[in-house]
Amino acid sequence: MTIADTIKTLSATIEKARSDSPLSARHITVMGASKGQGEPLLRQAIEAGLTDFGENRVQEAETKWPGLRKAYPSVTLHLIGPLQTNKVREALGLFDVIQTIDRKKLADAIAKELTNHRIIESSNHRFFIQVNTGREEQKAGVLPEETDTLIDYCRSQLHLPLAGLMCIPPIGQPPAPHFSFLRSLAVSHGLSELSMGMSEDYETAVKMGSTCVRIGRALFGERL
Ligand SMILES: *Cc1c(COP(=O)(O)O)cnc(C)c1O
Repeated sequence: MTIADTIKTLSATIEKARSDSPLSARHITVMGASKGQGEPLLRQAIEAGLTDFGENRVQEAETKWPGLRKAYPSVTLHLIGPLQTNKVREALGLFDVIQTIDRKKLADAIAKELTNHRIIESSNHRFFIQVNTGREEQKAGVLPEETDTLIDYCRSQLHLPLAGLMCIPPIGQPPAPHFSFLRSLAVSHGLSELSMGMSEDYETAVKMGSTCVRIGRALFGERL
């Protein structure tokens, strides 16, 4: 199978899951989670029509994406891994969407960088809050009980354009309760975007209202 075939099959599976559930979103972005994948394969995926990609590390993205972005300006690049405050400037230069805001200090650094460049109003960046729905110590994300405060802070103090919420359910647990929790949290804050669902659980995520599935291995095969 070529990557074009894989994208077609994946899209059909998503469409089926979508039509099966009253909770599903009208439009679902299929993001290629491209960590560990080389530039030639990404090029093929873009040529095959994939528009959104997610990288976990600023440094890795810097080695792969500047050239691709120039060649394909309409691609949307998402940061889906943890962000250190000292990498905020580089991240904002490279990514359109930051999906992993999980603490005030990081939100502050992002807002400061946008303000310094007077782009907070005109910026096309979009931001997600990552929620640690499974309360896993080793995992990034704001704890569920601290999420309301962080959302309010980002909005009222920093005027960050928040688009939605993101989560990565714990490995080995049924993902549905996590997706359901994230959805209710987003609804309660009037946030329309839900980044949830990966290779193993994207059909469940779509049925529960995901607007952005982040697919790595099911699209690109095993990582290098
Ligand atoms: C790697 C990664 C994915 C994709 O994982 P697969 O299981 O390969 O689909 C999605 N989201 C995040 C945050 C990731 O780090």
